[in-house]
Amino acid sequence: MSGFDLHSHTDLSDGTTSIEANVADAVALGLEGLGVTDHDTTAPFERAVAAAAGTGLELVLGTEFSAELDGFSVHVLGYWIDPTDQTLQIELDRLRDERTHRARAIVVKFNELDVPVRFERVQQLAGAAPIGRPHIAQAVVETGAASDTREVFDTWLADGGPAYVEKHAVSPVRAVELLRGAGGVAVLAHPGLYGARDGHGGIPAEVVEELTAAGLAGIEARHPDHTDEHLDRYVDLARALDLVVTAGSDYHGEAKTNRLGSATTPRVAVEALRARRPE
Ligand code: AMP
Ligand code: ZN
Ligand code: FE
Ligand code: FE
Repeated sequence: MSGFDLHSHTDLSDGTTSIEANVADAVALGLEGLGVTDHDTTAPFERAVAAAAGTGLELVLGTEFSAELDGFSVHVLGYWIDPTDQTLQIELDRLRDERTHRARAIVVKFNELDVPVRFERVQQLAGAAPIGRPHIAQAVVETGAASDTREVFDTWLADGGPAYVEKHAVSPVRAVELLRGAGGVAVLAHPGLYGARDGHGGIPAEVVEELTAAGLAGIEARHPDHTDEHLDRYVDLARALDLVVTAGSDYHGEAKTNRLGSATTPRVAVEALRARRPE
């Protein structure tokens, strides 16, 4: 297997595997590089570097930044960001805090819907990680209200679902600006998944144009949860807007069925992205 899997999570956000395990798996798969992209945190960076030392695996350190637009999640991947950038870290802190408040609000909604999930259990499952919906979904499964986390998302927790609560997150344009401000390159994650429940069928072209004007460098047209239609549509849009097309597995360990290395970006695209780092 060659190329870079530019999208992966660990147990420092809502994945279930350690950064060391992900690095070892990436090496075993023969990947050239691994994008380290936990939600709203740069926590895995140091351990990732230590784990990859001497393996030949190239790390692309980043984060998957939470934004919201019209009540639906938009995720912006930021690569090669400076983890000491204060403006970015203040916003990441705020986002992690907001995740805790939002998780409480989601638990209240579940309780109103007669699902007896407890916030304390959600917090326990997240540990030190910023709380994500997969942690809540796992806690709901434990109550016996659903047989797996997929069912929890499909029934209640997907964007726009009866237990969904928006994050007080920044706009996608602001996310691009913050990531660039920290010396990073911004890539729009899985655009086809935007507003899926309401049949929006992905982030509209006008929004991608606006993000491009703000400095967006790439678009994750290749994602395991995209349909062929999404792929074609966003590859075409990337061509029209001169954006780099990227691919990533969005690996979450046992929290999702996506396998590490199931989508990879060729080195030439990674270099094209790198060349778009702000001066
Ligand atoms: P959050 O950051 O708390 O909004 O949660 C986002 C995470 O929830 C994503 O990274 C996915 O792992 C998961 N997720 C979001 N929507 C769905 C869905 N419809 N089905 C399954 N997992 C989902
Ligand atoms: Zn996630
Ligand atoms: Fe995402
Ligand atoms: Fe992700």
